[in-house]
Amino acid sequence: MAFRGPNRQALCGTVFPGSEIGHKYFCVTSTSTGNISAGLSTAPNASATTAPAGTPRHPASLIGSAGGGAAIPQPPSNPASEVPTGTEMEPDRPIGYGAFGVVWSVTDPRDGRKVALKKMPNVFQNLVSCKRVFRELRMLCFFKHDNVLSALDILQPPQIDCFEEIYVITELMQSDLHKVIVSPQALTTDHIKVFLYQILRGLKYLHSAGILHRDIKPGNLLVNSNCLLKICDFGLARVEEPDASRHMTQEVVTQYYRAPEVLMGSRHYSNAIDLWAVGCIFAELLGRRILFQAQSPIQQLDLITDLLGTPPLSAMATACEGARAHILRGPHKPPSLSVLYMLSDAATHEAVHLLCRMLVFDPAKRISGSDALSHPYLDEGRLRYHTCMCQCCYSLSSGRVYTPDFEPPAPRPFSHAYEDSMLSVWQGKELIHRFITEHQQGKRVPLCINPQSAAFKTFIRSTAWHSSKVSRKEER
Ligand SMILES: [Zn+2]
Repeated sequence: MAFRGPNRQALCGTVFPGSEIGHKYFCVTSTSTGNISAGLSTAPNASATTAPAGTPRHPASLIGSAGGGAAIPQPPSNPASEVPTGTEMEPDRPIGYGAFGVVWSVTDPRDGRKVALKKMPNVFQNLVSCKRVFRELRMLCFFKHDNVLSALDILQPPQIDCFEEIYVITELMQSDLHKVIVSPQALTTDHIKVFLYQILRGLKYLHSAGILHRDIKPGNLLVNSNCLLKICDFGLARVEEPDASRHMTQEVVTQYYRAPEVLMGSRHYSNAIDLWAVGCIFAELLGRRILFQAQSPIQQLDLITDLLGTPPLSAMATACEGARAHILRGPHKPPSLSVLYMLSDAATHEAVHLLCRMLVFDPAKRISGSDALSHPYLDEGRLRYHTCMCQCCYSLSSGRVYTPDFEPPAPRPFSHAYEDSMLSVWQGKELIHRFITEHQQGKRVPLCINPQSAAFKTFIRSTAWHSSKVSRKEER
């Protein structure tokens, strides 16, 4: 179905590096009917698949609707083993826009599998963006966890003089939690539990590696047809800063999910900001609407204090003067947490108890990812996940063999020592080029972009407008 690009066209006057033989190109494939078509494909349709006999009861009962590629959870088959047929290939299309970069659904010409292709734009604009992209790239290659999206491959870069963009291939997921929540499809307690379990399982892994995600929101939680969930988009992620005197950027987290300490101008924050976002998402799963949907950061803070009540001074220790004055100037508000029971019938006492441990104003008193996983509310989600969804346990004729560690931490912290040694854009370019080249050594047939294909030209056009929008959103 896929074939090698016939025109090995020059880019910047040179061909791509590497041997003449053994390259595969993206962006041109043929279908089984023999027609040449764009090799990028749409996300799979929400076709319901019947579970094999003997498959444990699965939380999946969301049937994909035709509109907008919402949630699809259904078959317990292993998505990794699904290889599309040629007739399934359809024109390429963008499937999402992260904090930095654009993501397309494409077909891997090496095996016909559908994967996601992410373009990281404006890499070498300045030293800050250079460091940020290298950080994200290294993180994607570092991650080895079923609930965290990782790099399957990186496209071979051209010669260093022509090296401007980076393309990363990841597993293709069919939907995300935002689409699930806004869709009309039923969202049962079983779904909520298994989604929340996986969010926390992935987050525990990230936090144990010393990584703050900093942009946890439903759109960054990808879900597959079998309810498998993966945390994605590490464009804003960074390594934990143990030194409280070092300032961290405020430009994090989509406002609705932004923790009160960030809204109040704290110059230093911890991974507790991710747990606040999880609490907001948990409430959104229960109520099918955004918990704190304000028009401005100040109104966002007001909505939070409407629910939690006026915080004590001790909870505002790191707040900036203006934010503290704003809270103290206003009327004293009592907490009104009982309204959380009205989110839906799924808001049981156990659910609200856990939710209230996440939605704590004081980050020092907010529950951690691993403690949240010990909450009894998540027992069923854990059992369900490890009974029919995970890769870490397996079944024998005598029964299920469970992994000794249901929620494994990262084997080691993520290192960012290299960042300090990056002193110029050119040096950064060399480092990244070398990293990608070394990362690929001995692996599969390298992939290149075919810049002459019609699909690639569409791809580039679709990313151009976006990169101008995000380029100013740099961070320290
Ligand atoms: Zn397992």
